[in-house]
Amino acid sequence: MPAFLSIPPLANERWIIHGFSTAEMGSMGITNAPDPQKVTENRRRFARSMHVPPEAITVAGAVHGAEIARVDRPVPLVREVDGLVTDRPEVALFATFADCLPLIAYDPEQRAAGLAHAGWRGTEAGIARNLVAALKREYGSRAEDLRVGIGPGICGRCYEVGPEFAERFPTEMLRPGADGKLLLDLAEANRQQFLALGVLPRRIRVHSLCTFESDRLFSHRRLPDGSRFAALVAVR
Ligand SMILES: [Zn+2]
Repeated sequence: MPAFLSIPPLANERWIIHGFSTAEMGSMGITNAPDPQKVTENRRRFARSMHVPPEAITVAGAVHGAEIARVDRPVPLVREVDGLVTDRPEVALFATFADCLPLIAYDPEQRAAGLAHAGWRGTEAGIARNLVAALKREYGSRAEDLRVGIGPGICGRCYEVGPEFAERFPTEMLRPGADGKLLLDLAEANRQQFLALGVLPRRIRVHSLCTFESDRLFSHRRLPDGSRFAALVAVR
């Protein structure tokens, strides 16, 4: 089994397990998969490579919204949400991506963690804010205790959006691109949301790999064939 990717400072945290699958491990996306059975097997192998029992996998349905749900026991799928939080070691939070950003937040004090799926819609709707709010509401987490990991996903040099995004996002998250298009820095937009709620700058790490540039990960923009990589987060 090829090694999964992780975000270095989070990987050193004692009470959380997290990782991202690579293209080498196969697609983790069930929707539109030609062979869903194979995807299920890929997911199970990925979990086992992290020493997480496959039965723990609890998938966030991901509808490009900003809703976060609390999970207290493993269930195959939580519909209509783009983020999950838990403090139960028997639950492995799981979501799939192909350019959208995984957001991971972990509270070592309450030993609670969250995973969210942030595309431009979820980011505009405040999914990073909602993730922090859910940890606070459900577990009493304080923003200043949180460790945050952002990405991998499409980077600010590659994510072309239309000129209408000038009205959706603050100018400092946008740069001029080719042909009147704009380039959106989704990681920075989410980082700003975490900072605004009091997460400490040194505790927010952005994964450097860009899905559009690296063929180690799937990218919808590069190859829109339904392939997805996965993020898995579990507290020990
Ligand atoms: Zn890029």
